[in-house]
Amino acid sequence: MVDAQTVLDSETHYDVIIDGDYREPATDDRIAVSFPYTGEQWATVPQAGEDDIDDAVGAARRAYENGWKDTLPSKRREILYQIADVLDEHYEELGQLETLQNGKLIREMEGQIENLSEWYRYHGSLCDTLEGTVIPVENKGGEMFNYTQKEPYGVVGAITPWNSPLLLLTLKLAPALAAGNTFVHKPSEHTPVSALRFAELIYEETDLPEGVYNVVPGAAAAGQALTDHDDVDKLSFTGSTAVGRQIGKATGEKLIPVSLELGGKSPNVVFPDANLDNAVNGVIKGIFAATGQTCVAGSRVLVADEIYDEFVDRFVTRANDIELGDPLDRETEMGPVAFPEQWDKIRKYIDIGTSEGAEIAFGGEQPDDLPGDLFIQPTILTEVDNGMQVAQEEIFGPVASVIRFSDEEEAIQLANDTDYGLAAGVWTENMRRAHRLADGIEAGTVVINEYRVMSYRAPLGGYKASGLGREQGKEGLDEYLQTKSVWMDLDGEVSDPFNMDT
Ligand code: NAD
Repeated sequence: MVDAQTVLDSETHYDVIIDGDYREPATDDRIAVSFPYTGEQWATVPQAGEDDIDDAVGAARRAYENGWKDTLPSKRREILYQIADVLDEHYEELGQLETLQNGKLIREMEGQIENLSEWYRYHGSLCDTLEGTVIPVENKGGEMFNYTQKEPYGVVGAITPWNSPLLLLTLKLAPALAAGNTFVHKPSEHTPVSALRFAELIYEETDLPEGVYNVVPGAAAAGQALTDHDDVDKLSFTGSTAVGRQIGKATGEKLIPVSLELGGKSPNVVFPDANLDNAVNGVIKGIFAATGQTCVAGSRVLVADEIYDEFVDRFVTRANDIELGDPLDRETEMGPVAFPEQWDKIRKYIDIGTSEGAEIAFGGEQPDDLPGDLFIQPTILTEVDNGMQVAQEEIFGPVASVIRFSDEEEAIQLANDTDYGLAAGVWTENMRRAHRLADGIEAGTVVINEYRVMSYRAPLGGYKASGLGREQGKEGLDEYLQTKSVWMDLDGEVSDPFNMDT
């Protein structure tokens, strides 16, 4: 693996990956990719549009019709295992590329990608479980037999964000391939390189037939072209709720299935009987890890009145210890935010919070001893009312809004008083209470006495404005399969033509 400085100095120009290899794009427009820590540009990728998307969808369609749809599950399993081997072999290089694109910590990005091989092995083994059912049907028309079979949709279009690029791609690619679909990926314009390099390695080192997996970088226009393309059979999107709504409208108009993994404003609820050391660490993990740039960020910290002051003291002390710096340095705990618009948005929300009456208990400033313009201190806003904008809108940065509650009933009411429903954390040593909260909170994931955990086996997805559908686990695979119900006459006679058999 080449070191980061060599990559930074390389100024590599990538093309699109269509039909199993790099191909010159239809456009001359390019997107610059920079390292957020220093602002240094180190790569460019095509700013693809309709023509490149059309080429990629055409390649995916041909690959589907010319063999992939009939590939035996055991062959798909073998290929998914080979992709896992690619990740085992190249996770350090891919992790480094991710950090150079989005500025997130090398230890987080490399760690994520090192584990991703398990996602492909799990989905590989699920290929062996794609079974239908035999249903005992009874009706007036005589003896019949019914069975179901699971079938892929065909061409899947996938659009992903920048915060955990290969992880979020994998939540779509692994089940889509396991189910027998072909795939066109439009990565985020901020993090296209790791996706291109991953596809390049897959085609170099596995038996994946050409055209099954295509990567077309570009910005919103490329995403729109993929969403609107007539020959895409299923769309899977991870990103903001605002864009998710547009994609939901477009796919509704086309009547194709869509999975939407969207934003959040997740509560971390701390009760007086919590182990406070753990709760403070968990809340820090929820909002300051990854510089707050995670969909499940625990950005609303709901704290019981009795312990509010003590909790805030400990929270501030711990936040003060966070080591900001170079994301490539394994000692660093918080890196820069990913790009200038992100920084401006976070800064704007801190100002909105104070103008709404919140107090800054810690942070709020750009540190002056770090390079570039993209650092922001971990920020703790106290005396926040749940109705304030900083408590209702996703900031996607290291800004915690600490909100008081008086009792369990109010904690649940405040936790649910949001348009979102992605995740929640509950901190209590009372297990009856923990289960009451898990039951009462409207969110796709509730974590008790931990936070920011995930597994390829456990479903992930949102309630309310946080999304539609589930990723991971067997439910995640179902998103890429449709069910056919097959009826077969057994008695050799057609029943009364004018009386529907039910
Ligand atoms: P975004 O919605 O701005 O962009 C996501 C992707 O959509 C990008 O590839 C972008 O180019 C593309 N896009 C933008 N406009 C489009 C359009 N009109 N049509 C089609 N595609 C379009 O989101 P982002 O800033 O990249 O990512 C941050 C957001 O993603 C946050 O809201 C975060 O909560 C969410 N997110 C959700 C999950 C989850 O699993 N629920 C995971 C990670 C991130």
